[in-house]
Order: sequence, then C-alpha cells, then structure tokens
Amino acid sequence: FCSSTTPITATFFPGDGIGPEIAESVKKVFTTAGVPIVWEDHYVGTEIDPRTQSFLTWESLESVRRNKVGLKGPMATPIGKGHRSLNLTLRKELNLYANVRPCYSLPGYKTRYDDVDLITIRENTEGEYSGLEHQVVRGVVESLKIITRQASLRVAEYAFHYAKTHGRERVSAIHKANIMQKTDGLFLKCCREVAEKYPEITYEEVVIDNCCMMLVKNPALFDVLVMPNLYGDIISDLCAGLVGGLGLTPSCNIGEDGVALAEAVHGSAPDIAGKNLANPTALLLSGVMMLRHLKLNEQAEQIHSAIINTIAEGKYRTADLGGSSTTTDFTKAICDHL
Ligand code: ATP
Ligand code: MG
Repeated sequence: FCSSTTPITATFFPGDGIGPEIAESVKKVFTTAGVPIVWEDHYVGTEIDPRTQSFLTWESLESVRRNKVGLKGPMATPIGKGHRSLNLTLRKELNLYANVRPCYSLPGYKTRYDDVDLITIRENTEGEYSGLEHQVVRGVVESLKIITRQASLRVAEYAFHYAKTHGRERVSAIHKANIMQKTDGLFLKCCREVAEKYPEITYEEVVIDNCCMMLVKNPALFDVLVMPNLYGDIISDLCAGLVGGLGLTPSCNIGEDGVALAEAVHGSAPDIAGKNLANPTALLLSGVMMLRHLKLNEQAEQIHSAIINTIAEGKYRTADLGGSSTTTDFTKAICDHL
C-alpha cells in the first residue's frame, strides 16, 4: 500500500452515453491494482467554448497538453451548426497524428480465428479527411486528397519505431499506388525511406484490395500495418471485427510532443446507456495501452491478465459477449482476479 512511486496525473474524459459507467469501471480496476495515477476528470461542456469552437473546453485541452497522457470515453457530438466535432477538435488541437489499434484474439473468447495478433497504424490528419470538397460545376463535385511528405514520414517513423520497440518483425504499408500514383506513391516513398533506417524490420507493400482479402482469409499473415487515413479507418474496423467486435477493441492516439490519448473504439451506445449493461473491456484495454505508454508495465500486465482470465473463465461476461453480467458484476470479477 505504501508505494514510493510519485503518482502520475492523467486526464480522463468519461464521455457520454455508457462512458461514465465504463469510466467508473476503469477507475475501480486501476485503484484495485494500485496503479499510481491521479485522474483529472473533464466532462464535455454544455455550451460551445469559443476558444475551441466546440463543446470541449479549452481547460480540458490544456489538461491533456499538460499531462501528456489521457484516457477518453466515447463522446457523442451534439447535433447543430456552428461547432466542430469533438473528435476532430481533439485530433486537430492536440495534433494526434497516429491512431494505433492492436487487434489480437482474446484467449477464451472464441471467434473465427484464434491467432490474430496485428497492429494497425492509421495516419490521422490528412488524406481524404482534409475537408476540402467543393462543386466544380453543377453535377460535378471534387474532393481533395492531401498527402504530405511531412505527415507520411511522421506516421511511417512511428510505425517502424513501434515495431522495433515492441518486438515486431514486419511493417506492411497498405496503399493503392497503382491508381493513386501521386498521393499513395508519395506515402510509399516515405515509408521506403524510413524502412531503410530499420534494416532489422522486414518491409513490404500491399495493395489495399489484396490486403482485405488476405485479412479475412488469414489475418495471421500480418504484423504491423501502416496506412493513410481513409484506408486506416476501414481496415482497422475490419480487424476489430476479426477478434470479437466493439466491446473489446482498444486504441491509442499519438500526438506531437509525446501526447498519448487512449480511447475505446466504440461509440456512446445510447441504446444501452445508464442500464449497467456496457462492456468496459475496450476502455479497460485502452487504459492498459496507456499504462504501457507510461512504462507501468507490471500493472499493465496484471490488469490485462485479470481481464483475459475473467472473460476466459466465462462465469462473468456482459451481454455483448453472450453473458448476463452487469457492468459492475463483471468489473468486480476482474478486481477479484487482481
Ligand atoms: P455513437 O453515435 O456515439 O457512435 P452509436 O449509436 O453508433 O453511438 P456505438 O457505440 O457505435 O453506437 O455502438 C453500436 C452498437 O454496439 C450498439 O448497439 C451498442 O449497444 C453496441 N456497443 C458499443 N459499445 C459497446 C460496449 N462497450 N458494450 C456493449 N455494447 C456496445
Ligand atoms: Mg458509432
């Protein structure tokens, strides 16, 4: 109980819908595991903050910038004009340039595959998401896909560095450069340049359509995948589907200046909000990613095992995994495993 470690302050966005319930679960599990973290809670505001042009307050952005580390529950962007989406605001303001999604088969939860263990790394700032769309003439519209050397090198560098520091052997760049010769061509060129600095990592290039086929036929063929924004959006969901779906999949956003903001992949699930039915696993595993980022590996492994063992045991599972446990019962079972 008497730990000599100085506690680390981390920002916590409990978020909307099921967010507060699964956030409560994370806090309980982390406290039980004795994780030396002090949470700084920030809720989405009820009115637009002119400094961020969104419902996120300037203070909550400052909190992440100061702490450089945070955990985020799902946020539902309120409908209406004159403000930016919450996720877009976070991404832009915090320069969250890479989205990292590990996808691995959970032992004890049977899906079509038992041997999935891959990481998708998605460029998060440009590509088809530049927001530059307009009408050329009536009946003809144009959307600009922006690829820059700077953003491509940055995400490629992150992918190779990740592979090297996480004991991975291969990085696959996913593209459609046979058609998008300039844009995806530049992306690949940047990946190749970075690959040369990492001779110990095998580098390959896979066309996205072929990649989809290979993923559904045999996902074990892949290790680390790096790709432009839109491909990353699609492929990372495909990969989540391979291992059991939304209730289970964590992610982490990496920003400039070493910011890491971990978040569950799923949304606010309004259909089950407030009913004590939500599966907290995705947010818990995102919390585990955050702990690994902070090099709190011992606690990360402890919590990770407790989650895996609880699910594998099969006695306490939430409804999305075919069980009948409440969020709180499932959380308590994890704490008992700790
Ligand atoms: P949002 O608009 O915030 O994205 P949504 O309506 O798209 O919300 P999602 O959160 O994306 O809803 O979820 C889609 C489906 O998956 C819903 O039926 C939801 O109940 C379920 N779901 C999502 N996350 C969880 C979870 N953690 N536990 C259990 N079920 C979940
Ligand atoms: Mg959704």
